[in-house]
Amino acid sequence: MEKVYLGTNTKMYKGLADTVSYVEELCRLTADLPREKLELFVIPSFIALDAARKSADQKLLRLGGQNMGWAEEGPYTGEISPRMLLECGATIAELGHSERRHVLGETDEMVNRKVLCAVEHGLTALLCIGETAEEKEKGLADEVLQMQLKRGLYQLPPPTGEQLWVAYEPVWAIGEQGVPATKEYAEERHRTIRRTLVQLFGEERGAQIPLLYGGSVNPENAVGLIQMEHIDGLFIGRSAWDAPRFSQLIRSVLDVCFPKETML
Ligand code: PEP
Repeated sequence: MEKVYLGTNTKMYKGLADTVSYVEELCRLTADLPREKLELFVIPSFIALDAARKSADQKLLRLGGQNMGWAEEGPYTGEISPRMLLECGATIAELGHSERRHVLGETDEMVNRKVLCAVEHGLTALLCIGETAEEKEKGLADEVLQMQLKRGLYQLPPPTGEQLWVAYEPVWAIGEQGVPATKEYAEERHRTIRRTLVQLFGEERGAQIPLLYGGSVNPENAVGLIQMEHIDGLFIGRSAWDAPRFSQLIRSVLDVCFPKETML
């Protein structure tokens, strides 16, 4: 593993002032960590993006949008375009989060249009996929993941690891009621995802795409998860929203991925 991907989506929680103080503190607390080994990102509310960009050192922290419309501009009330995201300092577009799919009705076809548009505009598309509890119980998890990938990435030319990241976030693992996946279960699903990406994009490009696990990651399970062969990063909600706590988690992950002698 050359570098580890660690980031958070603050959902509809932190407003403008909270986001600014959060990213400032996170940058300060992690400034000493080598960015060639750590891709750190925060995905705040749209309204806080521009201020976050002004308060956070872009060399330390990347920013993203929690959603994106599928066109450069147009009659899409309430949507935000790739150009607008870029203008506010976002370089990542988080697409297809389970709350957008299961609470707000987003389909694979909508997600696909967004992925194509994000990549076309030079953003990193962070595609979120994951099965529901019912699908898991029926033994359909791998089929669901394959379907979400094939539909969500339809007609995307083989991407580089900068154009596409995939987050595996089982719906049953996310949020306060969520139960984190075991590291073994997550690893199995990540293997399926990697295999599908290689089928879609070929050995070289398919192997380059970073795979992140998300769903009730916490300081206790983060280290075990990141040590799995096919898990390249962690996408974290609640456990990352306090900057000192997140910084501790980041340090413990880096410590196991890159033991001290390689960090010097
Ligand atoms: C999420 O919503 O993507 C998420 C992973 O949240 P949490 O870590 O709080 O389960």
